[in-house]
Amino acid sequence: MKQPVVRPGILDLKPYVAGESAIAGHNRVIKLSSNEGALGASPQAVAALRAAAADVHRYPDGGAVALREAIGRRHGLDPARLLCGAGSDELISLLVRAYAGPGDEVLFTEHAFLMYRIYAQGAGVTPVAAPENGLVADVDALLAHVTERTRILFLANPNNPTGTYLPESEVRRLREGLREDVLLVLDAAYAEYVEKNDYEPGIGLVDGQPNTVMLRTFSKIHGLGGARLGWAYGPDHVVDVLNRLRSPFNVSAPALAAGEAAITDHAFTDLAREHNDYWLAWTTQRLRALGLDLTDSVGNFVLVTFQTEPGRTVNDADSFLRGKGIIARAMGAYGLPDSLRITIGTGEEMQACADALAEFVAG
Ligand SMILES: *Cc1c(COP(=O)(O)O)cnc(C)c1O
Repeated sequence: MKQPVVRPGILDLKPYVAGESAIAGHNRVIKLSSNEGALGASPQAVAALRAAAADVHRYPDGGAVALREAIGRRHGLDPARLLCGAGSDELISLLVRAYAGPGDEVLFTEHAFLMYRIYAQGAGVTPVAAPENGLVADVDALLAHVTERTRILFLANPNNPTGTYLPESEVRRLREGLREDVLLVLDAAYAEYVEKNDYEPGIGLVDGQPNTVMLRTFSKIHGLGGARLGWAYGPDHVVDVLNRLRSPFNVSAPALAAGEAAITDHAFTDLAREHNDYWLAWTTQRLRALGLDLTDSVGNFVLVTFQTEPGRTVNDADSFLRGKGIIARAMGAYGLPDSLRITIGTGEEMQACADALAEFVAG
């Protein structure tokens, strides 16, 4: 029997594998595999989600007006230049589909967030990865990999899973070295966690340039990964293009309500940031003291690289942690076959994880 024929390239895609949330035989696990907010979501956002259930028979506001206005007030941005999506994943997909096609290239760093590659391949676009320097994005290498076919450069800043970031001056140098018709997409999913005075999530560059877009998400510090909500800030013409391409009701009404409550709950985001500051430093220090190799992460996770001798490998560490009910994330798919990414969870979770790794290291 004949089958429908799928477009070239689709069957080469490896489906995204999400962080696991269960271990057979454990009824309680510590899930540190998906960079979800350690403290859950703002109680006000959860209340707004519940309240939204009463009107769930109504279509959402397709223009996300109230949420864009709330984001605009929070960050001092013009709501007309904001666009909301079902997670920033959807915005990445829309940007690829709008600005690149078969024969074009999309550029990113060696260990970049996987969705850039997956959406590029899905649209028949050639993904190109530029080498990093010590697990940090390398502006010169990125610029050296630009060709006349490059349409978009995605930079996750800070990057997941390396946790490293580029200072504002380097991002500016990158923009200045790019052709004007190459769209620079600054994916600032972890911006709220960064406490560095040389960091800027991209608002300044978007304001000054007709060819730069910043992406943000409610999935990390706001703890709303399950609601699927993200936003883009960009030039008018890019926002206009994405508005034409997106589904008319791409963000659900409960997600809009939760987002509005979350973005105005400053006390909760402050608490989440302070929690991360403390436990990121604590975890980094504790694991380094065990002799483990960690990058200098500025996100809500650490990247730990293991040795290759039998008994000491990343797989050994992963199995050991699982034996204790702790789920981290192996990073083979990101070109980091010896590394585990561990999300910053609650204090108790980090203590349990560090104790387990201490036991592992002691053999
Ligand atoms: C988690 C993450 C996202 C956000 O994904 P959502 O679709 O908004 O949940 C985007 N970019 C990076 C680098 C991430 O780590």
